[in-house]
Amino acid sequence: MNIGPKGFTGEKYGGATYWDTEAYAVPLYLALAEPSVTRNLLKYRHNQLHQAQHNARQQGLAGALYPMVTFTGVECHNEWEITFEEIHRNGAIAYAIYNYTNYTGDESYLAKEGLEVLVEISRFWADRVHFSKRHNQYMIHGVTGPNEYENNINNNWYTNTLAAWVLNYTSEALAKYPRPDLQVSADELAKWADIITKMYKPYDKDLDVFVQHDGFLDKDIRPVSALSADDLPLNQKWSWDKILRSPFIKQADVLQGIYFFGNQFSLPEKQRNFDFYEPMTVHESSLSPSIHAILAAELGKETKAVEMYQRTARLDLDNYNNDTEDGLHITSMTGSWLAIVQGFAQMKTWDGKLSFAPFLPSVWSGFAFHVNYRGRLLKVSVNKQTVEISLLKGDALEIEVYGERVKLTNNFQAALQKSGAKS
Ligand code: BGC
Repeated sequence: MNIGPKGFTGEKYGGATYWDTEAYAVPLYLALAEPSVTRNLLKYRHNQLHQAQHNARQQGLAGALYPMVTFTGVECHNEWEITFEEIHRNGAIAYAIYNYTNYTGDESYLAKEGLEVLVEISRFWADRVHFSKRHNQYMIHGVTGPNEYENNINNNWYTNTLAAWVLNYTSEALAKYPRPDLQVSADELAKWADIITKMYKPYDKDLDVFVQHDGFLDKDIRPVSALSADDLPLNQKWSWDKILRSPFIKQADVLQGIYFFGNQFSLPEKQRNFDFYEPMTVHESSLSPSIHAILAAELGKETKAVEMYQRTARLDLDNYNNDTEDGLHITSMTGSWLAIVQGFAQMKTWDGKLSFAPFLPSVWSGFAFHVNYRGRLLKVSVNKQTVEISLLKGDALEIEVYGERVKLTNNFQAALQKSGAKS
């Protein structure tokens, strides 16, 4: 079984499986449940590898293309701009394998089932890119990024970045866990290496931001605040063609990539991209506000972080997008948790190291949560003066709090710092 975007609360999306699970539910299950729960979610996709290969073949391509919407593994979305074009979803499946492996430290899934999935996803990307002789770079044309208010665009920064990352992650994993049975030839690996180094990732020198996709900056760039309240939500008030021509962004797109690969970008880079894209974002997908809350918290933007947290936590209670009657949004529920844990507490797990840098919005009196991490159970409590991290179960563990290394044996306390941002 998997998790439908509405869980069991409504009929919209028909209970089908989306990338929502890998991108938004897996991080929560990793921290709140036994690793076997996430492993089972990963196995769900491994079980459907054959169908994902079928999906790729339907498009005349090699490898495996996981579906945007499915029950059996075979794609069952009915719009070409999603089915053929919203291929970033394939990267999220690979990212979840990385997430599980990095969070739990258990490499056995990666070495066996994980690599079987990763190699086929990589083969898809290697076939789906094309080489532009003019630019001496690889490109991916005819895609839809996470921002579904743009269709059939070229070189979505997020998709291109994710595709190159998958090829790199797969190559590294194959070097560590050789799999002659998967028959990845030296030529194939060399092609992947070429794509990794020559992938085109749109960037604008003047604005110093990553560009959502080719041509985006030629639009009539303006903030959502320039619209009247009567225009919102756009997807219920505007015709589809008007939405597509506009600069307004449905959900995190460039920022989704900055969130996924948060250890590869500096704070100033994160800040510039956040300041550029967030004002144009209408958050008309439940996947959007939590990612913005996490990044805003990291950047020390307290008001924005609280606003985005409330938007994810209260999305269905306050019916922000005028669609609660369709069912509740599972990603805004997991997103509420993500916003507190990865946002306000700044819990990070890069390179197998657990770290926190909590801050408390001035209008809050405190927050607390539990997490499982590599056989331990931790409780993190934050109030107006202190941060307390308790080891409730498991062996002593080295963690980082506000950049300082701490050996956690039972209880650790630190004075609360004003902002999570380390600039
Ligand atoms: C979003 C997708 C998401 C789907 C299901 C759409 O509105 O744009 O990213 O997978 O809803 O939640």
